[in-house]
Order: sequence, then structure tokens, then C-alpha cells
Amino acid sequence: MAELNLILMGPPGAGKGTQAERLVDDFDLPYYATGDILRAAVSGATELGRHAQGYMKRGELVPDEVICDVIMERIDTPEAEDGFILDGFPRTVPQADVLDAALDRRGRSLTAALFIDAPADEIIRRLSGRRICVKNQHVYHVEFDPPKTPDVCDQDGSGLVQRDDDKPETIAKRLVVYEEQTAPLIERYEEHGILRRFDGSRPPEEVHSHIRATLATLALEAEL
Ligand SMILES: [Zn+2]
Repeated sequence: MAELNLILMGPPGAGKGTQAERLVDDFDLPYYATGDILRAAVSGATELGRHAQGYMKRGELVPDEVICDVIMERIDTPEAEDGFILDGFPRTVPQADVLDAALDRRGRSLTAALFIDAPADEIIRRLSGRRICVKNQHVYHVEFDPPKTPDVCDQDGSGLVQRDDDKPETIAKRLVVYEEQTAPLIERYEEHGILRRFDGSRPPEEVHSHIRATLATLALEAEL
């Protein structure tokens, strides 16, 4: 059976999380979100987890090699022998080098880097529509999940506010940072011929069937 060793990339608001859930269902692959894995390793107090925690306690960045080791610990388990979906790592070119080397030592390699992109104005439209109720933090969206009465919580009648993180100017700044960080990575995977772009501004069903068709083709090619 051909392996599907996948990286999932994309700016916040492009629909990465939704697509990840569907891919897990479609292809029965384990989904590894780096932040979760790191936290699990630390709380599980494995030797590697303690090692990573040491850096965190000293207020230092966990070195790329250590993060990669923590991830590889999961990739080396039977659940990932047919492939995996990795989200949140690598974020930089040096991290990509470390991951490539680690996979290479195991006779494995990345099948594809799935990049779900969307224009900044669409992302801002999606993310800035979020409203939170002040009393119980119930979540609404002015466009996709509006309350019955504008700016009033359906459940407890309290007022709805926009968090600072959801303000258009804050989102725009985050997108600029994201783009600066990931542009070299996108370029690298493009050069390696494994980058696959998807238009995250399309409806989720459409993005999903596009990704699924792409992966089915890749799996077939790998078996030939
Ligand atoms: Zn409420």
C-alpha cells in the first residue's frame, strides 16, 4: 500500500481544520497537530517530553530537532505506517530540512504538502464576523451563524462583542506575519514538486473533493 505522508498548510481562516477532519475520515490517517503532540509529550512525562519541557521551563524555544523527535515518535507507531497528516510543523525551511532528514533515515518521504490558501479579504471577512457574548462566551458569526436579534445572545440575552483578535486590522497583521514566515517554505515544496494548492475561498465541499481527487491520484501514482 502506498503511503500518504502529508503536510497541511494554510493561513488561519482558510478552512484547514475542516479539511483536516474530512481527510482523517476519508483516508483513515492519523492527524498530528504539533501543539497538541508537544503538550501530550510533556504531560505524559516521557523522556523526550521531559527534555522538551526543560526548554519551556527555561523560557527557551524548543529546538527544531527536539520538536521533530517528538513528532517522529508518533510517526514511528503502527497507526502512521500508511501515512499521516502533519499540521503546524514544519513552519520554517530549517524545520523542513530536519523533518526531511528524519523521514529519509526511515526510508520515507513526504508525499505532498497540501496548501489551502485564500485571499486576505476573504479571510478577514470570515474571521472578523465572529461575535462573542459577554456573559457566557457563546459564539456567533454575523454572516454564517447570526443571532436572532443583532448583537444580542440567543441563549442569555447579553450583548455580543467582537474580540480584539477578531478585528480586521489585527487579522491583517497576523496574515502578513504568516505570509512572511511561510513563503520560503511554500517555495521550497514547490521546487521539490510536492506542493499542491487548493482554493480555500471555494465552498468546503468543493475544496474537499478537490483534495480527495488529488490524493487519490497521488496514491495511484505511488503504487505504479
Ligand atoms: Zn450568551
